Amino acid sequence: MRFITYNLKNFREIEYMRYLPEETKREIDIVSRVIPFKTNNYVTDYLIDWENYEKDPIYVLNFPNKNMLTDNQYERARNVLDGNHSKLDINRTVNKIRMEMNPHPAQQMTNVPVLDGEQLTGSQHKYRDIILFFPSQGQTCHAHCTFCFRWPQFVKDLDLKFSMREIAKVVEYIKRNESINEILFTGGDPMVMSPAELSPYIDALLDPDLVNLSNIRFGTKSLAYWPFTFLPEFSGEAEDMLKLFRRIVENGKHLSFMAHFNHPVELDNQVVREAIFNIRQTGAEIRTQAPILNHINNDSDLWARMWKMQVDLGLIPYYMFVERETGPYDYFQIPLAEVYKTYQRAIRETGSFAKTLTGPVMSADKGKVHIMGIVTNPVDGNKYFMMQYVRHRDYTKTFRPFFMGYDEKATWVDQLNEVKADNISIHSV
Ligand SMILES: *Cc1c(COP(=O)(O)O)cnc(C)c1O
Ligand code: SF4
Repeated sequence: MRFITYNLKNFREIEYMRYLPEETKREIDIVSRVIPFKTNNYVTDYLIDWENYEKDPIYVLNFPNKNMLTDNQYERARNVLDGNHSKLDINRTVNKIRMEMNPHPAQQMTNVPVLDGEQLTGSQHKYRDIILFFPSQGQTCHAHCTFCFRWPQFVKDLDLKFSMREIAKVVEYIKRNESINEILFTGGDPMVMSPAELSPYIDALLDPDLVNLSNIRFGTKSLAYWPFTFLPEFSGEAEDMLKLFRRIVENGKHLSFMAHFNHPVELDNQVVREAIFNIRQTGAEIRTQAPILNHINNDSDLWARMWKMQVDLGLIPYYMFVERETGPYDYFQIPLAEVYKTYQRAIRETGSFAKTLTGPVMSADKGKVHIMGIVTNPVDGNKYFMMQYVRHRDYTKTFRPFFMGYDEKATWVDQLNEVKADNISIHSV
């Protein structure tokens, strides 16, 4: 299977574009200047129901639409593109709109580890036991999710030449920091790399002197966006890729895929199922995570169905995330109270094996905040969110329940007021 990328330049060549009115294609043209657009022939051929494209979750996940911008932003983008404006003018307008969308790129590259006075800028060490690594060749994805605003700033900020040379330094850093037992390859998507690109990194990590490193993870959406990577009958490189995974496992490391699935349709064909089977045959585990998003997967039956499918396929449900306040989040965000209720209705429909899931979780500045429940004080009738950090920069602050004032409309933890637990007698709702 040949990988065909569709982007702003060639998306009109997608066979199914015949389903779209000219006006909609023009909309894609305009909005994708702001929200980076990329998809591929697996997504268009296997995942999208084109006859109902407007409501199709994977269409919305990949194709930017007008409602992802405010009316004002859309008009400004349209005007600058329609008129006789220079490239510079267009870029200026586009960048201005992007800056209004709270890209907060700075936060991405914090917690940079330092080795002998040198910053290892292709990695991040936020939590005691785990280091994130951004291999230079993995800073793109097989397709771009419209809700993800991560990569455009990200790619620019990253010193791409650096991270290839950096692995030896990262290995040294891990050796000197015995509390680290885990490395997470992230991006973008590290599974866009070929086995030849990936193996030097892995070789470095399989250094027998690196005794404290037990776990290797890949954060990836490849199973949903290009599962052919793991099918030897379709990809000349798949066999080497699977061998590489096997080698990691045979070296005694725990290898886990942190696979991103937004919708059950992404699990519902033979290609992805065979890919899952092949990966599991190597001894690697596949854990799953995804944000809950309006217009894509805001539905408890859908999540229940997705988690059950995952368990049946041997996958391990791991995180349900709340959408971050960045990019087109007005379009995708859901109030925390509603997110929690959807989670609660979904999880109770699942069986034992889905209990490995932690959710809903917000990746905030200090760490990952887990919404444990909504509680009410029977004396005065006040409601609260009960939360805990499941990850915190300071690990002693994890797994300590705390309360935040209830607000039906709030979409992020920083919109809530903290309350002292001693003032509340607890009653579950
Ligand atoms: C989520 C995350 C991790 C991994 O956390 P786990 O709870 O172990 O899955 C590591 N580093 C950063 C910066 C993260 O946001
Ligand atoms: S695959 Fe992941 S990193 Fe890539 S666009 Fe989607 S959410 Fe962002």
